[in-house]
Amino acid sequence: MKCNECEGTGWIKTWCHGHDVMIREQCYSCMAHEKHMQELILKVSKLVASASKQRLARAFSTKLIDLTDRFCESDFSQVEKAIKEKDVESIFMSMEVM
Ligand SMILES: [Zn+2]
Repeated sequence: MKCNECEGTGWIKTWCHGHDVMIREQCYSCMAHEKHMQELILKVSKLVASASKQRLARAFSTKLIDLTDRFCESDFSQVEKAIKEKDVESIFMSMEVM
């Protein structure tokens, strides 16, 4: 999401009257957006925790492969390496960097 207030920088320049200088403040709109997303993550986590392990694994894997296809120019070599080495941590790490 592109923020209209800070144009995606996360910072807003404001005039500080007490000191008569321009100061940089963190964008409240972006902070509120970030907080809202964190709350949603928690709520969705609680909700999907009741789904089966297999279903969650399938949904997670589908997303990982789809994101790899879209953002890593269909280079599945890291995923294939992780499968071969049974490296679960690197699968989670790949998901986090996307
Ligand atoms: Zn912003």
